[in-house]
Amino acid sequence: MDHPARLDALRLRLAAERVECLLVTSLPNIFYLSGFTGSAGVLLVDEGRSVLFTDGRYALQAAEEVHGSRVVILRSGALKAAARRLGRYRCAGFEASADCRTWRQLREQAGACRLRLLENVVEQLRLVKDDDELERIRRSVALNSRAFQQTVKRIRPGLREVEVAAELEYHMRLLGAERPAFETVVAGGPRSAMPHARASARRLGENEVVVLDHGAILSNYASDMTRTVHLGAASRRARALFRVVLEAQQRAVAAVRAGAACSAVDRAAREYISRRGLGRYFTHSTGHGLGIEVHEIPRLARRDKTRLPAGAVITIEPGIYIPGMGGFRIEDVVVVRERGAEVLTTTPRALLEF
Ligand code: ZN
Ligand code: ZN
Repeated sequence: MDHPARLDALRLRLAAERVECLLVTSLPNIFYLSGFTGSAGVLLVDEGRSVLFTDGRYALQAAEEVHGSRVVILRSGALKAAARRLGRYRCAGFEASADCRTWRQLREQAGACRLRLLENVVEQLRLVKDDDELERIRRSVALNSRAFQQTVKRIRPGLREVEVAAELEYHMRLLGAERPAFETVVAGGPRSAMPHARASARRLGENEVVVLDHGAILSNYASDMTRTVHLGAASRRARALFRVVLEAQQRAVAAVRAGAACSAVDRAAREYISRRGLGRYFTHSTGHGLGIEVHEIPRLARRDKTRLPAGAVITIEPGIYIPGMGGFRIEDVVVVRERGAEVLTTTPRALLEF
């Protein structure tokens, strides 16, 4: 990971924003810029230097992980120490992820320095992945697909949703994942109509649809996939609904290319679902950026006019949710390329019937 190059790219942005430094408080941004994976620290980046403030618990870890930034170990109060430094500047940027307590601390310590809220300044840099990041995401996606394949062959009526989720996460770990990227979704029958249903203690029944949505973190990068399976032979209606989602998903994937607006990719899926009379059952956006975090910019949503740059990594995940009956969703991770999408998720998309 080329941290000095990332810091230089950030400096150009800071100059354009007319601030002398940025106080980075978002941990994923700190990792991106410095390599530090600890859970307490603040990074201060100015024209010439980058300094990570953290405490004694992370002294060894920071020495090992951080490249391109100087590390300052404090007994306590990393934020306070960093905020006090702001007094040297006339105008400093801080991130939107800072909470009220952080902001108050900054205000108290920064003296005459003017504080400016900068939204998504590091996130914009993270939007385009470099080759090292793409390789990490590729491996995370492959691991996640293997965990799915190893779990799904044992899925059967009578298992609890949480047992299936535990198995998914167990396989992720065995395959080398650091942790799940988010709370694993295993939702059977009517619960599958809730797009973000967490796995519950409910037992899977005969003849019902099951949505599995899960991701892993491997080498600090996320994966995210959804497959829909059916216990017992699916009804004609369930198959028809599934086919609509699959076609919508494929149309959205086909709409991906460098320069395409996020809204256009969303529209490719949404218009098809709407034309089939199911528009009101597609209740979320078509996808999201993915990288160090499972949800990054951009959103592939109706009103997001962002043009996709080559090298961005996004998910494509339309779904249909019929209250009382069930839900259907298919989600893949794709890389935006000049001429189209490179699909990283290789797991077959067909409706699996057990
Ligand atoms: Zn997902
Ligand atoms: Zn997703």
